[in-house]
Amino acid sequence: MSGRAHSAVHGSHHGLHPGAQHPGQLAVPAVLGLSPYQPGKPISELERELGLHDIIKLASNENPYGPSPRALEAMHAALEDVWLYPDGGAHALKAALAQHLAVPCECIALGNGSNDLLMLLAEAFLTAGRSAVYSQYAFAIYPLVIRATGAQAIEVPALPLEASMPLGHDLTAMLAAIREDTRLLFIANPNNPTGTWADEQTLRALLAAAPRSTLVVLDAAYDEYARERGIADPLPLLAEHPNLVVLRTFSKAYGLAGARVGYAVCHPEVAAVIDRLRPAFNVNSLAQAGALAALADQAHMRRAVQATMRELPRVIQALEALGLWCAPSAANFVLVRVGAAAQEWFQALLARGVIVRPVANYALPEYLRISIGRPEHTDRLLEGLQALCVAARAQRRSAQS
Ligand SMILES: *Cc1c(COP(=O)(O)O)cnc(C)c1O
Repeated sequence: MSGRAHSAVHGSHHGLHPGAQHPGQLAVPAVLGLSPYQPGKPISELERELGLHDIIKLASNENPYGPSPRALEAMHAALEDVWLYPDGGAHALKAALAQHLAVPCECIALGNGSNDLLMLLAEAFLTAGRSAVYSQYAFAIYPLVIRATGAQAIEVPALPLEASMPLGHDLTAMLAAIREDTRLLFIANPNNPTGTWADEQTLRALLAAAPRSTLVVLDAAYDEYARERGIADPLPLLAEHPNLVVLRTFSKAYGLAGARVGYAVCHPEVAAVIDRLRPAFNVNSLAQAGALAALADQAHMRRAVQATMRELPRVIQALEALGLWCAPSAANFVLVRVGAAAQEWFQALLARGVIVRPVANYALPEYLRISIGRPEHTDRLLEGLQALCVAARAQRRSAQS
């Protein structure tokens, strides 16, 4: 565009609107106040930056065993029909989920990952003048989707380090924080980035006491891992609590994070509300095919989950042997306290081709969140951490002398 044409196009608005030179400022105030979600560093980015190969990513709680081979086959086959729009109602996937979960189809809503469902729930149930409750150190998406709607985000302090579930959700305090205008209460169970969980009794007590005017969104993204630890299935609670919404995902245990499929199990009316609002084809055809085949291969999913949950105590014990404190975890990652050097350690591990997750954005600047990889990934991680501990000790000694 020539300079003249440019000024001709924009000149007519010049001075009329404060957004003319800053079109981003035209966004609604609630959105202007947001900071973007910070995802884990992608492997490709580190390859570019450091010219490293053989990088391992323990930063986004992905499943290092990947999806069922049958899911990959189904996705390859679905490519043939990629010129067709997906089945907008995702009938086959919904029917399979309904059968697998033993709930009616009408109780299921699908999302482009559960992140999509969190946004849709916020958009459907929140607005300025309403509020939503979540815990300190809870999944960072909750305050983001709440505040985007102009609703008030009520953050409830997490349990203290001395508690039996250190840094976990304080469900009693969360219940007490519910107001008349509170429409959503988010519980991540287990929670990311802490790995902590609420036991069934505490959860039942919250649901029994919560007003029906508040939807309780139980984000069970790590449910399959938690089950391996003996934590109860939340789905039976749906029968007694029409205000309960359980979210699950194919991103973690099913190894399909890149495909973006999540689902809500809830009262049919809530599912219908989500369906009214969601983009018509929010789950694409490759993702539908992959999820359907992944769901059918429970044995593959369980093997991956079992391997990960066997590896978890090994990682925790090794970290503790280095003198580092770990939060209790019922998921495929662990939150570890490194101290003031957490950012330095993150960088030093990056230089060794190991990506972990700093969590300063969660106001946990002294901690790192580490996803549980394959045993050989653990070996690489521990080598790096041991070297860092030795270097830190030598530094302390030379500072003392
Ligand atoms: C990973 C994760 C999700 C899953 O997000 P998707 O959008 O389904 O990939 C949801 N909730 C929590 C707490 C998570 O950690």
